Amino acid sequence: MTDSIELEQHYCAHNYAPLPVVLVRGEGVYVWDESGKRYLDMMSAYSAVSHGHCHPRLVRALTEQAQRLAVVSRAFYSDRLAPFLQRICALTGQDMALPMNTGAEAVETAIKAARKWAYTVKGVTPERAEIIACDGNFHGRTLAIVAMSSELQYREGFGPFPPGFTRIPYGDVAALEEAITPNTAAFLVEPIQGEGGIIVPRPGYLAECARLCKRHDVLLICDEIQSGLGRTGAMLACEHEGVKPDGLVLGKALGGGLLPVSVFLARRDVMEVFHPGDHGSTFGGNPLAAAVALAALEVLNEERLVQRAAELGAYFMSKLSALRSPLVREVRGKGLLIGMDMDPAKVSARAVCEALMQRGVLSKETHDTVVRFAPPLVITPEQIDDALTQIRAVLQDLAAG
Ligand SMILES: *Cc1c(COP(=O)(O)O)cnc(C)c1O
Repeated sequence: MTDSIELEQHYCAHNYAPLPVVLVRGEGVYVWDESGKRYLDMMSAYSAVSHGHCHPRLVRALTEQAQRLAVVSRAFYSDRLAPFLQRICALTGQDMALPMNTGAEAVETAIKAARKWAYTVKGVTPERAEIIACDGNFHGRTLAIVAMSSELQYREGFGPFPPGFTRIPYGDVAALEEAITPNTAAFLVEPIQGEGGIIVPRPGYLAECARLCKRHDVLLICDEIQSGLGRTGAMLACEHEGVKPDGLVLGKALGGGLLPVSVFLARRDVMEVFHPGDHGSTFGGNPLAAAVALAALEVLNEERLVQRAAELGAYFMSKLSALRSPLVREVRGKGLLIGMDMDPAKVSARAVCEALMQRGVLSKETHDTVVRFAPPLVITPEQIDDALTQIRAVLQDLAAG
């Protein structure tokens, strides 16, 4: 076990601080380490594994397509891309989609679309378009995206950054109204902040933002890379607010836990700013990714994963709150996107994650205080009870010192 850790530390850039566990196999909500120890995965790769590890139906879609045709680039059409995009448009109520691979690329796509829409449709002065983002946001790691970040560590040492971004407090409609200028192209927002610490804004926030954006001819673009595809107990988190955004970014679970698949979706008049050669990706929308993503959407529907997230999330959150540990400041979230906010005077989130790992439950802290619980949506009530048993024990152990 230590071999893999030492070798990885030697050869792999130290841009993460993984928990000291070496995983070799996964099935559903479980993963196994080199010694054969089983863990309940309560993190599911930052929600990329909502369908569970190695879902048989998705592995079949992957292997069948891999044996037929995998990558052609968009220099040609394939028989797989259209059915996938037709389905994702229908599911989200959007008109058109631009397929990419990682979340960050799809967010970049959204930014480019918003800017070009601002110049060509809204009539913003060339080179003056502004995008408004929120404090505490997480939209990925590219330069333009970290230019929007309020997190010092994400930016430090990486400047200079592209201009054209403003930031306002999350959850503050008045701040949005104040920040909008005639040059504003878009307001980019996560309906629930994931990496920011599972921050759920007050009811009505997103709907009020949507009305404001509409009034000022500003695109509302929701980054649902983490919150989308059932995670919060609705297909999209913005549906909790009855909001249909002008642009929408999806990723993570879209790849069924097998491949990186992302899309930027939008209204037709927004997407039509792209002409051949404007933007692209060699792998974006490849037949293999499209086949897996379409199957992932079908599984979401057939296994009622959205409803499961709503029901089991409510159950899990109420049981977590009922633990009433003095170490816990707050339990918050929606559906199966739950944060347990630890009192930093008493314990770090990292220490909780390490103790949980010892007891066969995998999670990962976000920031210093929040333990994230975002298991695969296929988790059962019994498995949630198993996790709760371990969480209760860890909180008792740590409280006892
Ligand atoms: C993970 C995440 C991203 C970035 O996705 P990558 O695939 O890591 O590039 C962007 N936005 C949100 C909300 C995310 O959670």
